[in-house]
Amino acid sequence: MGFKRIVAAAVALALLVAGLSVFLIFTQVATVASARAWLDHTRAVIDSNQQLLASVQELEDSERGFVITHDPAYLKGYHRASASLPTQEAELRRLVADNPAEARQVADLIDAIQRRQSTVDRIVAAGQAGDFELARDVMVGSRAHVEMEDIRALADKVTTSENTLLNSRTIAARQIQNLELVLGLAVSLVALTGLTLGMILLADNNRRLVRAIASAETAEAARDALSALTTALFNASPDYLIVLNIEDGDRYVVADLNPAFAKTLNVRPERVRGRAVERLLPPRVAAGLIAHYRDVRAGGEPITTRSEIPGLPGGPRVWESIMAPVRNADGVVDRLIGAVRDITDRVRAEERLRDSQRMEAIGQLTGGVAHDFNNLLQVIRGNLELLASMVEGDPRGQTRLKNALYGADRAAQLTRQLLAFARRQPLAPKVVNLSRLVSDMADLLRRTLGEAIEVETVVAGGLWNTIADPAQVESAILNLALNARDAMPNGGRLTVEITNAALDETYARTARDVTPGQYVMIAVTDTGEGMTDEVRARVFEPFFTTKSDGKGTGLGLSMVYGFVKQSNGHIQIYSEVAHGTTVKIYLPRSRQAEQRTLLLLDQPPAPETGQTILVVEDEDAVREAAVGMLDELGYRSLQAPDAEAALKLVEAGERIDLVFTDVVMPGAIRTRDFAHRVQAMRPGVPILFTSGYTDNAIIHQGRLDDGVHLISKPYAKADLARRIAQLIAEPSAAP
Ligand code: ADP
Ligand code: MG
Repeated sequence: MGFKRIVAAAVALALLVAGLSVFLIFTQVATVASARAWLDHTRAVIDSNQQLLASVQELEDSERGFVITHDPAYLKGYHRASASLPTQEAELRRLVADNPAEARQVADLIDAIQRRQSTVDRIVAAGQAGDFELARDVMVGSRAHVEMEDIRALADKVTTSENTLLNSRTIAARQIQNLELVLGLAVSLVALTGLTLGMILLADNNRRLVRAIASAETAEAARDALSALTTALFNASPDYLIVLNIEDGDRYVVADLNPAFAKTLNVRPERVRGRAVERLLPPRVAAGLIAHYRDVRAGGEPITTRSEIPGLPGGPRVWESIMAPVRNADGVVDRLIGAVRDITDRVRAEERLRDSQRMEAIGQLTGGVAHDFNNLLQVIRGNLELLASMVEGDPRGQTRLKNALYGADRAAQLTRQLLAFARRQPLAPKVVNLSRLVSDMADLLRRTLGEAIEVETVVAGGLWNTIADPAQVESAILNLALNARDAMPNGGRLTVEITNAALDETYARTARDVTPGQYVMIAVTDTGEGMTDEVRARVFEPFFTTKSDGKGTGLGLSMVYGFVKQSNGHIQIYSEVAHGTTVKIYLPRSRQAEQRTLLLLDQPPAPETGQTILVVEDEDAVREAAVGMLDELGYRSLQAPDAEAALKLVEAGERIDLVFTDVVMPGAIRTRDFAHRVQAMRPGVPILFTSGYTDNAIIHQGRLDDGVHLISKPYAKADLARRIAQLIAEPSAAP
């Protein structure tokens, strides 16, 4: 039962009890009053009756005394009684006037009294007249006696009837009182029952109330705990969280945003709370967001989106956000909650990975093709050079041969470039300090770029040593300079800077395949036309060029890229359209002392007579071409088709000044073992390898093994002459 109903019942009960009590009190008072009135009345009637009787007696006594003594003094009583009797009779009559039966009795009584009075009057009159005889006769007559008896009887009757009346009234009053007592008891019982019931209900209600309070407290504690958890989550989440209230049907008001979000947006939460989205953001952005919010509400389900957000304090970011509708107790969506995760780093890393995988794939393909191509070119070139002696004195033949050689050289150059991109060009890295190289290049660059372009070289003091192939560094700088020239058709300035640089972890994370550490940086900057982001994204791809046919090959930057990567370096391009471009090459620092670089541009000395070269090559055509070349250069040759045969020759004790061997050969003996055995038997005899392909047999992570020398196929006769001459003259120092 509800508390209100209990209260209502209690009030009703109280009213009932109060009403009954008032009623009882009134009736009680009335009953008592009427009982007392009746009692007074009876007493008055009896008194009045008695007085009347007393007056009649006095009348009688006075008459008797007078008649007997003849003394008129006795008549005093007679006169007094005669005077008071009418009043007394009237009084008694009045008292019983309301009761007809009694009134009749009283009337009879008064009649009797008056009869007696007239008799007495007659006796007294006789006595006063002196006729005491008559007076005595009348007085003792039977009538007189009867009259008096009548009066007494009638007076008794009145008294008796009055008493009877009183009795019956008393009984009636007592009955009423009994009834009232019963009623009072009943009321008390009802009140008591009501009270007991009320108390029981109250106790029950109280118990229920206690229980309700306890459960409310438990619920509140649970709510508090939950709310503390939510708050902690909200405040500590690295994801950006926002709560939007939906107001007036379609207005989206920021209810709250967490500290992470506020920090990213560089706003104070209290400044955005309570403000509608369209008041916080530019109209276009707000319209887009509101359309999205409507979709979320309409769908009633969370929606995930990914978008690039411009205009943030720290530059554009990629956000993955989930927006979810929140329903109120009536099931109506009245709030939206959004969780945003910044996935920029992940997306960028994926992009970098994709890029590097693409470059890797292109590299594999390019490297494979170039390798096969090189072997073919070696055969072509070798044979063409052999033909030279045969067409001596034949100008037309010589021209053809020259053209053919030119073509072969171009093809060789192309394959070399492709190998360079594929990070498979044979490199001869050494510890060098590039400061001299860069300053020495200034002249060459000025000559190459022409008058319209101002060339400046800046070399930082205390430049660290680096480990790289200096010839390739030179070629890379030249390539970049040529690109700069093409980008500045109307002139401009080219700056080549070289300086120490450190790439830290933070940088390494933003760039592709970078190992943090110390580097020597070469920056080539021009004031040219620059490039768009689309162009910049593809410049390292082989054959990617924006230049017209015949002007660009699209291999320049590919080569530089391949070389830098193969040297464990890093390359980065900064460019702005219409402003210029900077290409930065980072080459790893070396803590070792610089090795002296030999200048190879001088003509090689002619071989001494009898100097013998052991040529090891499995392919007959290639071997014969090589032997032919050596022959022309003035060397004696020994030939072997494989390592086994070659070792036999070495063992046989023939004169051998240098071993010239192919890297990849069939047979049981591996190239490295072969080299070791030769070195063991003939210490100091240099070994020059040749290969169309830089194989793991001699090249490890892009570097040649110590004491191993390599000349790449296809090689020109002059190159071969230089390398052989140098190795024989100075076996350990030559590159
Ligand atoms: P190529 O020079 O044969 O076109 P590269 O690989 O050297 O090939 O360069 C590829 C492309 O990169 C060029 O065609 C040009 O669009 C762009 N590029 C390279 N260097 C620059 C530069 N310094 N300024 C503007 N664009 C450049
Ligand atoms: Mg170029």
